[in-house]
Amino acid sequence: MKLQQFWSGSGINKNKGMVDNLQRYGIVTSTKVAEVMQNIDRALFVPDGTPPYVDSPMAIGYNATISAPHMHGMCLQLLENNLKPGMHALDVGSGTGYLTACFALMVGPEGRAVGVEHIPELVSSSQENIQKSAAAPLLKDGSLSVHVGDGRQGWPEHAPYDAIHVGAAAPEIPQPLIDQLKPGGRMVIPVGNVFQDLKVIDKNSDGSISVRSETSVRYVPLTSRDAQLRG
Ligand code: SAH
Repeated sequence: MKLQQFWSGSGINKNKGMVDNLQRYGIVTSTKVAEVMQNIDRALFVPDGTPPYVDSPMAIGYNATISAPHMHGMCLQLLENNLKPGMHALDVGSGTGYLTACFALMVGPEGRAVGVEHIPELVSSSQENIQKSAAAPLLKDGSLSVHVGDGRQGWPEHAPYDAIHVGAAAPEIPQPLIDQLKPGGRMVIPVGNVFQDLKVIDKNSDGSISVRSETSVRYVPLTSRDAQLRG
């Protein structure tokens, strides 16, 4: 949820129209990313009664939100080269499962897309959402999975990862996530408290890391389950 909104209102009534807009505004430039976003209908991932295609974050319960379409598009673009067929991707704070499902289509059945989310109810509903989507076969064959856990610890089982996305803002970059990034891998993570930057972290072949800021953002915090539920 970049601090910006590209369109509003419910004039956009189709998933395809949403993706067309993301391309028109220059957020999505890759045909593969556009194709994947067209195939995963965002309407399957938002709560009933929530307008799915408006460019805004939406509440999903438990003090969490589904990110705005332009944030999903931007993160997919930033990670595109690390989401090639056969690669491993980790989605921390997977929430509705929307982006995890997009990652799974990008890396395909030979790859792995892993979601980690600390609210068990969201993990269950994300699995139901994915089952209705074009990513359902990947969930069935196990190349896509969503787990209950503290995402600050990553998910060592399928590490190292070519791509790591964090969907909640961390006060600092968790070391386990850096450790689980493959040399040549890329992590996209919002960092900060009130003022947050979307950071792009590349792990070089010698294991050193390069960090740059992409844009200002506002995400819900990456925190403990208790702190989140207390609000
Ligand atoms: N990409 C998701 C974003 C959901 S909002 C989507 O667009 O649907 C951020 C999510 O991070 C919330 O679901 C929240 O429950 C989760 N979260 C926050 N701290 C976490 C932690 N320590 N471990 C795992 N998930 C966490």
